[in-house]
Amino acid sequence: MTTRSRFAPSPTGLLHVGGARTALFVYLFARSADGKFVLRIEDTDRARSSQASEDAIFADLQWLGLEWDEGPQEGGPGAPYRQSERLAYYDECVQALLDSGKAYLAWETPDELARMREQDGAGFKYRKYEYDAEDMVEFEAEGRRPVVRFAVPLEKGKIGFHDEILGDVEVDIDEVDDFVIRKADGFPTYHFAVVVDDVHMQITHVLRAQEHFKNTLKHRLLYEALGWEEHFPKHGHMPIINRIEGGKMSKRDKARAARAAARAAGLDAAGLAEKTGLDVVTSQAFLKKKNDEVAIAVRVAEALEIELPEIDCIDFRRAGFLPEAIVNFLALLGWNPGLRDDEGNEVEILPLSEMAKHFSLDRVGKTAARFDREKLRWMNGQYIRLVSPERRAEALQDWIDHNPGSVLEEWDADRRAWLVELYKDRLTAFADLARDAEFFFVRPTEWGPAKAIKKHLLKGGGLDRLRAAQAVLAAADWNEEALEAALTAAAEADYDGKLGKLAQPVRVAVAGGPVSPPIFGTLVGIGREESLARIEACLAHHAE
Ligand code: GLU
Repeated sequence: MTTRSRFAPSPTGLLHVGGARTALFVYLFARSADGKFVLRIEDTDRARSSQASEDAIFADLQWLGLEWDEGPQEGGPGAPYRQSERLAYYDECVQALLDSGKAYLAWETPDELARMREQDGAGFKYRKYEYDAEDMVEFEAEGRRPVVRFAVPLEKGKIGFHDEILGDVEVDIDEVDDFVIRKADGFPTYHFAVVVDDVHMQITHVLRAQEHFKNTLKHRLLYEALGWEEHFPKHGHMPIINRIEGGKMSKRDKARAARAAARAAGLDAAGLAEKTGLDVVTSQAFLKKKNDEVAIAVRVAEALEIELPEIDCIDFRRAGFLPEAIVNFLALLGWNPGLRDDEGNEVEILPLSEMAKHFSLDRVGKTAARFDREKLRWMNGQYIRLVSPERRAEALQDWIDHNPGSVLEEWDADRRAWLVELYKDRLTAFADLARDAEFFFVRPTEWGPAKAIKKHLLKGGGLDRLRAAQAVLAAADWNEEALEAALTAAAEADYDGKLGKLAQPVRVAVAGGPVSPPIFGTLVGIGREESLARIEACLAHHAE
């Protein structure tokens, strides 16, 4: 039987790292088994689903390189792959359960339900209520729409399944509510749709995050009630992803970071409102952790000039991470490839195609994974150096496209490609390039830090050396070899061959400080006129 695994996102927001990790494992599993990777859109929550989210999820998966075999646009034997287009299938199956008494209508309004819950306390379990015919006529006249609930077969006593990652699980069936399978708006709930779809789409393996673990018990009951036991797929629940400092990673982390910055700046609600332009009530709610909206966090971050942690796939794309690095990093959040190189060191850098060869569920861990941002940066740097120059240029272009207004836009593609080659050894993300190479585009008006200025310009005749270097450079052809030859010859003649005596003052003058890529490339990048003008400006500034 062909292995078929699926990624089933709900298009209710952006694809975050957790979702991307799930998609990746599902993809790797399918590829490792020479099977099919199915993409299904779970849009049964009408209020929260949107086409924009769906499109963004497709774009993120494509960016990550996780090509799917069947999906809403591609079609396939399980079509349609969007739940909102499958209502007829669900209705048919709901009807079968109603007809056999395995499901029933329930008429409570959300308010009534909340009251019932309150009365019964934490142990509340929904069980079938008998309404008389008169009640139902009244409910209908009031415009109530019933939901359909599954009648949990309490007589079974226990319910369990075998998890490919976590092992055998079993709970008392009494712990399970008579859960809703069709909502009042006629749409199925997640629990119901997922079971119908996994069977119709002949899914052999359901891999998803541990958050869904308990849901699988409910699903197991539905498989049995629908007479589909033999179609119950293999299930594997992946470890949750924690922040490095502990606690589950979530989109709230943006609010958390922004709040910490607001506190560190000593802002109260009024102060925050003034700084951000938000109203005081919203600012207060934000500071008191009552409102964690990302839009507010973004506003606070802009006002306080801090960076928010990347959480969604698109955040990483905007920050200049390579998808090659992201997938490699995400794969190690829960999967241990167990590979060693010839020297016995653990192999961590594994491109997607290699991972697909080695992936297996028995090397997926049970305990929470930790999202180590430092390690991700390190890995991204590795990939920036590992990929071809063409790929580097393409990825840089993608970064520029996602960061309109960056200084890098001032150069054409060829010059930018040249620049990224000059910097590749020191980058951890493309955002570094825009920051570190800014001086190529903007003439320095200040030079620093003071210590470096003292050392390279003010002490030991630095300014005279700079003047001398200026004359040597001005007389040379403006290419790396000629500039190097000229300055080296001058250093041989006058400074015991110590090139740094000339090169360091030049560097400080043109780059505004003592850090730049190799100096001759830097000079060529800045250009003859501009380099000489910068040296002149620096001499004039320090002569004052
Ligand atoms: N739509 C669910 C989610 O986004 C899918 C869970 C599953 O894979 O069954 O969490």
